[in-house]
Formats: sequence, C-alpha cells, structure tokens
Amino acid sequence: MNQLQGKTKVDLVIRHAAEALTCKGEGMAELGVIKDAWIAVKDGRIAGVGTEREGSDSIDLDNASQLDASGKVVAPGFVDSHTHLVFNGTRVEEYAAKLAGDDKKKLEELGITTGPNRTIELTRHASEEELFQQSKKRMMNMLNYGMTTIESKSGYGLTTESEIKILEVGRRLDRETPVDVYNTFLGAHGFPESVTKEEYLRIIIEEMIPEVGERKLAEFCDAWCDDGYFTAEESEQILEAGLKYGMKPKLHADAYSYIGGSDLAVKMNMVSVDHLNYTPVEVMEKLAESKVTGVLMPALDFAVGHKKPFDARKMLDLGMNIALATDLCPACYTESMQFVINLACKLYKFTVEEAIKAATYGGACALDLDDRGVIAEGKVADLQIWSIPSYVHIAYELGTNIVETVLKDGEVVVDHAEIQ
Ligand SMILES: [Zn+2]
Repeated sequence: MNQLQGKTKVDLVIRHAAEALTCKGEGMAELGVIKDAWIAVKDGRIAGVGTEREGSDSIDLDNASQLDASGKVVAPGFVDSHTHLVFNGTRVEEYAAKLAGDDKKKLEELGITTGPNRTIELTRHASEEELFQQSKKRMMNMLNYGMTTIESKSGYGLTTESEIKILEVGRRLDRETPVDVYNTFLGAHGFPESVTKEEYLRIIIEEMIPEVGERKLAEFCDAWCDDGYFTAEESEQILEAGLKYGMKPKLHADAYSYIGGSDLAVKMNMVSVDHLNYTPVEVMEKLAESKVTGVLMPALDFAVGHKKPFDARKMLDLGMNIALATDLCPACYTESMQFVINLACKLYKFTVEEAIKAATYGGACALDLDDRGVIAEGKVADLQIWSIPSYVHIAYELGTNIVETVLKDGEVVVDHAEIQ
C-alpha cells in the first residue's frame, strides 16, 4: 500500500492493550484511558499512542517488533519520589518485638537498639560494596513491581564521609541498573549523638553541602522539619545552602507536629513537601495554589501505626498535586507501589484513578521530571504491562504482583509472561 510510504518506522509496538493509561488529563482524577490501544516506541521514547480501530497515519505499526497486550493494561512505570533506599541491615527484631507488644524499655533490656540510631550505626560501618549489594537487591525487587524511577535519600550516615558514601551508592545504582535513581541529600534527617545540634547544623551547611554540591552527588536537598528535629528556620537555612549548589528543595514536614514546615514549602516553592499528617487546611489551600507536590506515604503510617492519618481526601479535593511514594526504609520495609495503592484506596479514600496517577504522574512531578509518568509522544518509554483486564483490579487484588512486563527506555527489562 502506498499509504505505508512516508510512515515512520519504529522499534516496537505494544498492540491491542485492553486499556492504555496515559495519565494525562485534568487534575489528579483523570487517567486518560484509551481502550484497545497501541503504543509505539522509538529510540527509547514513546513515538505515539492511539486506538487499533483508527490505526496511525504517521507510524508504521505493522513492521516493527510486536508485543501483544490483549486483555491487559499498559501504564507508565511507577515513579517513587520518596525512599531511603540505601541502608545497611534491617530493624526486623524491633518490628517483631513491637508486634509482640514489647515496649521500648523491654527491647533495650534485651539489648535491641531501636530507631534510626540502629540503622545509622550499621550504615556507617558498612562498606560501599555492601551497601550497593543490599540496596540493589531492594531496587531490583521494586523494578519487578513496576518501578522505573526511584528517588534515594541519604541520611543514615550523618557524617560527611558516610553521607557521601550513601550518595555514591545511589549514583552507582543509577549507572549499573536499568532503573533511574535520583539522589537527595538528607544530612538533616536527624542529629548525630557526638556533636551539639548547633555544631551539626554548621557541619551540614558549611561542610556537607559544599562537598556534595561540588561532587554533583545530589539533585535535591531535604530536611526533616518537625518537633524535635529541625525548625522551619533551620530547614530554610539548610535548603538555601543546597540551592546555591543547584540542589532543589524538598521537605519532610508535619509528620508528627505542625511547626511551619508546610508553610516553608510554599514560601520556597519547593519541588515537594512530604508526610503532611498535621498540615492545617489553610496551608493545604496554599499548597494547592502553589502547585508544590504533596507526597503521601500510606505504608509508612501503616507500618508505624501512625496515630494521625493524613487527610488525603481533603488535599485532593482542594486540588493539590499529590504523589504516592513507598517511603522504603528500615521502619517501612516495602518495595511495592501496588501495596501503597491498595492502602491509599482502602484507607485514605483515594479513587483508583487518583492513586494510579499519584504513583506515576504525581511521582514525576515530585521529582520535577516532565519527561515521564505519562504515556504521550516524546516522553521516555518507561512502561509496564499489567496482567489484569481493567485498571480497577489494581485496587482489588490485594498484594498480588500484577506486573507482567516492564520496559525501561523502550527495552524489556522484566518479563514475567512465561510464568503466568
Ligand atoms: Zn523520609
């Protein structure tokens, strides 16, 4: 057919998808579903998307590698915008003891060190290679669950040397695995026991940030603004220092108290503000206007039994841009965004559409990435094929890994098809 002449040759076409979730459309609620869809990939990017019935005037759909997605759903790869991926060991003893109802004092009597200090101690003493291998294992599990972009925070070192070590591991994970890893410097995750708070603030601003900045080890700078951690004023100083080295500001805020963290996020027009359990409605309104992305982490609150749930419904209704993230860390050991979506829908009143969009498009917004998180021409071809007939099943199937195939930059990197 003459019509074929002049049509663009592509590398791969996913055909007959029951649904393609473009994750485009208004606000957080519209998924932009295309039924009986094709998605074409060329040079690692999405070359086009459309319906089988209409075909394509510009793309040669038939003369390229074909991937049959009939009866399945195609979605953008998940973007996890909040993890503490790089750490040594676990806190499984502490978790198990808490399940058994043992209080903190009893744990100490048993010689079980609890909380972040335990992880900091283990992480400081681990070699870069040990940290890399442990983190890589977690990350590859995440990839199997459909995650194609992951943010990784430092913060379990709290010395210049160990914070750099964690960030170097993040860079190596990015280079040596299919997943894109973006680093966040979070020296202000807590306070080391060996120096005063004032001295540690000085170390962060005058030593750590310049070193991280000069080595270009992090895209973002973060701090924990909460009662007992860093004040809004201190957080601002830290994040301003990061900005001088091109590190964009993010913030852990309002997780256990409201001391002005979310207001600071508005003031500094941050990339994201994360947790938001205690955020007042007036500040949510300002966040909605400012377009700062709110990052919500249902699995963390579930794992720690948080006594004040964040009000996701309110934030969504006010029009806030929302991302769902795993918060993978020793206190919240989940590698599955699907589990996070299960929790978000059932416990936090997300609609299924909002939850999927927050785990893809929302995650990309929270990392200031406009080249992914959606299925659209020109965007990175990070895609996943789900072995479910309609996207609603993602909320319904509890704990099932529905991911059959994952494509990163247009290449198949996970293929579970043969075992299903
Ligand atoms: Zn965190």
